[in-house]
Formats: sequence, structure tokens, C-alpha cells
Amino acid sequence: MADIVDRATRSRMMSSIKGKNTAPERFVQERLEKRHIAFEAHAKNLPGTPDFALPLYQVALFVNGCFWHRHQGCYYATTPASQKAFWQEKLEGNARRDVKKQTELEAAGWRVIVIWECGMKHCPEAFEEVIDAIEGELSLSQWPAEPPRQRPTKA
Ligand SMILES: [Zn+2]
Repeated sequence: MADIVDRATRSRMMSSIKGKNTAPERFVQERLEKRHIAFEAHAKNLPGTPDFALPLYQVALFVNGCFWHRHQGCYYATTPASQKAFWQEKLEGNARRDVKKQTELEAAGWRVIVIWECGMKHCPEAFEEVIDAIEGELSLSQWPAEPPRQRPTKA
């Protein structure tokens, strides 16, 4: 599959996001590159600035931390015991903003896939499912489809 952004554009994109790439984002980026899937990182031209926009597929990817983005049912989506009201409001605010972003993107014709950090910790080898979903062979709005509930037995 051909790259849809030229070298200069890509270099500009990359320089504009310097320092923003977290380890989970690098994980996703490496896998997209390996499969030659063209992407724009931190696509500011789209609602909610998705972490990765895949224009050829009209797919937007968000790479979300389970705690901050409230991965439902996930072991890592805890609520701190102290200052409970503060945290609850802050975290629920994050989740509300996420829903709004996704709704806006879908209204603009994009499919949204949320990639949770716990999946990268617990089942990185299953990331192929995300590729299948991007390519339309699998219907998936978030990955992993079910959150793992236990800590990994080995680091
Ligand atoms: Zn999770």
C-alpha cells in the first residue's frame, strides 16, 4: 500500500509531535509501520485529535490509559480512595469528553477504535485483531474486546 503522505509532510508531522509520543503510542505506531498502514499522528484536523488517523480506512485510533480514560470493568480503572469526589468528577469528565470525541468523529464518517493500555501489557500478541478491525475484517470498537482483570504473572 502506498504512503499517502510525502516525506516532507511526514517529517513535519513527526517534528510537531516531538515529546508527545508515549510508549503505548510507539507500540501502536511500530505495528502500523510494520504493516505499511499510512497514518497521521495527533491529527489536529479531526474532532478530538485522534492519536492516529488512518485516512485510507477512515479509521481513528485512540490509545488510552485505563485509569485516566475509565476502561470499564478493567483492573486498572481504579478510583483513588482519598479525595474521592474530586477524582470521580475528574475521571468522569475525561470519559464524557471521550464519548463526545467519538460521537463527533463517527458523525464525520470515521470509525473509531479505542486501544487500551492493558491490552498491550497482557496480550500484545493479539494486536493483530486491531489490524483486522482496521481492514474491516473484524468489527471492533475497542481492543481488547474484554478487559483483563488480573495483573500479569510476569513483567
Ligand atoms: Zn484496561
